[in-house]
This record gives sequence, structure tokens and C-alpha cells, in this order.
Amino acid sequence: MKKKVKIKDEYNIRIKKRILREIKDSEKKFVTTYKEIKKYFKIFNKSLFKNKLNPFNDIKIKRIIKGSGQCVEYLSYRKGTTFFVLEMMPKYKNKLEFLNTLAHEMVHLWQQTVMQDTGNHNKLFWSFRTKFKKLNLRLSY
Ligand SMILES: [Zn+2]
Repeated sequence: MKKKVKIKDEYNIRIKKRILREIKDSEKKFVTTYKEIKKYFKIFNKSLFKNKLNPFNDIKIKRIIKGSGQCVEYLSYRKGTTFFVLEMMPKYKNKLEFLNTLAHEMVHLWQQTVMQDTGNHNKLFWSFRTKFKKLNLRLSY
């Protein structure tokens, strides 16, 4: 009998377990740090985006009025350049909400930089739903 095991799947199973372990304490508030954002950016980039994402040009931890995170595109008409800033809140209800939010904003970055898409909540965006589920994450608005 032949058996094929994809390396990528093994990595994702490991990441899924790690996420499950880290979100166990679901009642505990999560305090956002740049370190955690960078750590999970790397993990999600590998497991969800085949390492195709370039990092955000900048990361800001700040209060956000609408939503729980933002992928902000800055356009410089003078220089003809664009850059992307990730905005995350200082605190989240729990770690899962933090992870869901980060992964969500990364889909927007992928849409706008890899796919040259509008970055709206469109078909391309929702196509990540199953991939999120595999890691025990949830893609929502
Ligand atoms: Zn969104």
C-alpha cells in the first residue's frame, strides 16, 4: 500500500493543535503585543497563504471605532506608491478573537497585494472560510 503525507498538512495539524492549546482559556482577556502579531503573521502566512504575503509595511496597536481590526491602504499620489498598515486593538475579548481578527486582516492584505483585488468582503475573501475552519478559526465580518 502506498501512503502519501503532505508536509503542508502536517504543519497545519500542528498549528491547529497549537491554536487549540492557546485558546483553551477562553475567558481570559488578551492583551495585544507586536511580538504575538509577528509570530502569528508568520504562522498564518505559511499555513493559509503559502508564504506569499509580504509583511504589512507597518503595524499599529490602537483603539478602533468600527470593527476589531483594520488593513489600511495608504496611497501616495505624489510618489505613486501604496503601503499597507495593520491596525489591531490593544485588547481582545480572548485570544481566539485576536487570532480571528489578525487572520481576517491578512486575507485583505492577500486580496490587495497578491491578487490585486478590491479587498472587499467578496467571493475571493470568503473562499478562505474552509481554510480557516481547518485551523479552528472563524472567518466573519
Ligand atoms: Zn474585513
